[in-house]
Amino acid sequence: VYILAIESSCDDTSAAVIHNGKMLSNVVANQKIHEAYGGVVPELASRAHQQNIVPVVHQALAKANIDKNQLSAIAFTRGPGLMGSLLVGTSFAKSLAMGLQIPLIEVHHMQAHILAHFIEEEGYEKPTFPFLAMTISGGHTQIVRVDDYFKMTVIGETTDDAVGEAFDKTAKILGLPYPGGPLVDKYAQEGNPKAFPFTKPKVPGLDFSFSGLKTAILYFVQKNKAANPTFIEENIADICASVQHTIIQILMDKLKLASKDTGIKQIAIGGGVSANSGIRNTLKEAEKKYGWKTYIPKFEYCTDNAGMIAIVGYLKYLNNDFTDASVSAKARYAINE
Ligand code: ATP
Ligand code: FE
Repeated sequence: VYILAIESSCDDTSAAVIHNGKMLSNVVANQKIHEAYGGVVPELASRAHQQNIVPVVHQALAKANIDKNQLSAIAFTRGPGLMGSLLVGTSFAKSLAMGLQIPLIEVHHMQAHILAHFIEEEGYEKPTFPFLAMTISGGHTQIVRVDDYFKMTVIGETTDDAVGEAFDKTAKILGLPYPGGPLVDKYAQEGNPKAFPFTKPKVPGLDFSFSGLKTAILYFVQKNKAANPTFIEENIADICASVQHTIIQILMDKLKLASKDTGIKQIAIGGGVSANSGIRNTLKEAEKKYGWKTYIPKFEYCTDNAGMIAIVGYLKYLNNDFTDASVSAKARYAINE
């Protein structure tokens, strides 16, 4: 079974080919255009998708070394995401499936971030049900209880900013280029995480909040810069380490609570922020400390990519779970809808 998958929910155009659960290709075209604006501009994103989609699909097929006539089905991201971006992938997938007269499979982007753990990879042990999945990215922060491939319940999520935004906004306050998350990580590795204590927000239950932290960082930097104009330059490593430490504490507090509430000790993370070295180290330590088993997919399957859409497409193909050409993109789309 060969499935072509298409992802276009935000600012990355991606296509992948999967053969019986094994990835043959996973091509991602990043949109550099947004850097100048310090964030994703929806109108520019959908235009860039239109330019990228045909070459990206061609490349994915070429890398997989197959012809489009060998495809068994087309999978695509239906939502959630930016409407203009989703429309490009959705219309493309629909037309191609119709042209080739093969089935069409709709995929939920957040389910895909979680099911990326089931891509066949040498040496990668897959989680077993039930497990807890924490998806941390530029647009989302969720803890999901996963009882089966398609039986997922969101048990906690952010009430305001996503954790990736907290990283990126911190970077912006420090004058670092967008998206600054990876740079904060880099500086943090040379800094003292206890140098500048920031208070953690008090949010009930398993939900998160990051907007208060962002404001606290802004005021902290402004105040210190007023007293010493080179404060940032002199302390960038310590500031980044302290902010990152606080963010990790916030995530870990909720994960610990979720594990305690559910009795589940299998913890899988995904989303672009799972590239963060501090989070990865802390999770490894948690295995020993709390008896957890943790799972982090390969980085290329953490950020937005069509590979994760392809694995969901394959699982749905096995369930004969197809959609017809009347399907439309869905910008707001609940995980268990
Ligand atoms: P979504 O997946 O919710 O649609 P997105 O496309 O913004 O949103 P991803 O591509 O999964 O999300 O992740 C990008 C985010 O991850 C950015 O906010 C980026 O700063 C952050 N990020 C990437 N690497 C790191 C890192 N090493 N440390 C911290 N944050 C990081
Ligand atoms: Fe995503």
